[in-house]
Amino acid sequence: MKYEVVIGLEVHAQLLTESKLFCGCSTKFGSEPNTQVCQVCLGMPGVLPVLNKKAVEFAIKMALAVNCRVNNKSVFARKNYFYPDLPKGYQISQYNEPLAELGYLDIDTNGGKRIGITRIHMEEDAGKLLHGERPEDVNYSFVDLNRTGVPLIEIVSEPDMRSSDEAQAYLKALRDIVVYLEICSGNMEEGSFRCDANVSIRPVGAEKLGTKAELKNMNSFKYVKEAIEYEIERQIDLVESGGKVLQETRLFDASKGVTASMRSKEEAHDYRYFPEPDLLPLLVEDALVEKLRGELPELPQQKRDRFIKEYGIPPYDAGVLTSSKELAHYYEAVVRATNEPKVSSNWVMGELLRLLKEDSRDVKDCPVKPDSIASLIQMVKGGEISGKMAKEVFEEMYKTGKGPKEVVQSKGMAQISNEDELSKIIDNVISGNPENLARYKAGRVQLFGFFVGETMKATKGQANPQVINKLLKEKLDGK
Ligand SMILES: [Zn+2]
Repeated sequence: MKYEVVIGLEVHAQLLTESKLFCGCSTKFGSEPNTQVCQVCLGMPGVLPVLNKKAVEFAIKMALAVNCRVNNKSVFARKNYFYPDLPKGYQISQYNEPLAELGYLDIDTNGGKRIGITRIHMEEDAGKLLHGERPEDVNYSFVDLNRTGVPLIEIVSEPDMRSSDEAQAYLKALRDIVVYLEICSGNMEEGSFRCDANVSIRPVGAEKLGTKAELKNMNSFKYVKEAIEYEIERQIDLVESGGKVLQETRLFDASKGVTASMRSKEEAHDYRYFPEPDLLPLLVEDALVEKLRGELPELPQQKRDRFIKEYGIPPYDAGVLTSSKELAHYYEAVVRATNEPKVSSNWVMGELLRLLKEDSRDVKDCPVKPDSIASLIQMVKGGEISGKMAKEVFEEMYKTGKGPKEVVQSKGMAQISNEDELSKIIDNVISGNPENLARYKAGRVQLFGFFVGETMKATKGQANPQVINKLLKEKLDGK
């Protein structure tokens, strides 16, 4: 590789407040267009914005979670532009005095890496333009202002990422955090968590950053990766063939897997930022910051590290199990009841997640309670059922919501561990296969497995394998 890739991300997260950033309108998603609006978010003359305190608290929590310094004073500013979906003609954002700065986030790729976070600032969202969504509207565009004024935080990273994988890992880690903090739904399809990527290339060893293109419209982790990869190749081809990368905004077209130029990128001074005269500077006291710090939950990385240390499970397991707070909670409930961290992890990550995925169901709505999985694990451990039967029992538990004992009873699935009972069955198997018995005695010891298999067949898989092994050894080898 002659070129080094340089990526910085700007992530917008919609805060889960009930009302908008500067008015009391609802932020509910999916309502009829233009039903959640008022004079303030419609930009009528003579109205004044009032800052939403909850939104400030949520933004501070995020700042603390990614190790930012929270500024005691920050200033809202007007970003002027022609916004067809923001009737005021400017967006209230923060500019040179943002809420928080100088943070970082550690990601796991290639043995771990620290990605710098330049700043986190608060701003209001714009509305939504709808372009001919219905066939009869094909020649029209519409505007829905329900989203206008909804609170956002923008999290701006340093240009520290060097591959699409790192960008994806950083974005996932950020999303895990906002979801753990319960300040954002993290839903990329609904646009509640969005990402723009600044991508440039430079010759390996060069200090100076190359000209960057800004990529927009990537509403899934997969698209983020695809768009960045396409863009890296496009820039390299361009430079190799003697061309120059232009500073511009490019849209990702997911159906074609390409990025296309949308507009030449504005410089910050084009927006004519100036302090918002309708809002006082935002003063945040240290006491509030410390109070919010005390309210932070255990974050995904902390939880993952604790799972590895406390339960001795592999990092991979810990990563999967902490991918949501609910799943981590579920797993811990199973471990508490079984005291078997790895076996519990296998069940939760394997069978449980498989069935939930098939059903597109969330662990919150799981029909099997942690106690039930725990009893199932205990039944396997106690030899009541085999591991193989347990999987069948589990599927039935999942389908019916019944407990494992009930399923085993109703299906007559209990494992046969009774030696007298199994002894008789094995005697029948042996006497029914005199030729294989003779070959076994003559030294074909691999036929042991044949006898195990036949006994299993005779018991419809319900025989306890350890007991079969023991009895067969006694009977075939005289041990
Ligand atoms: Zn409003």
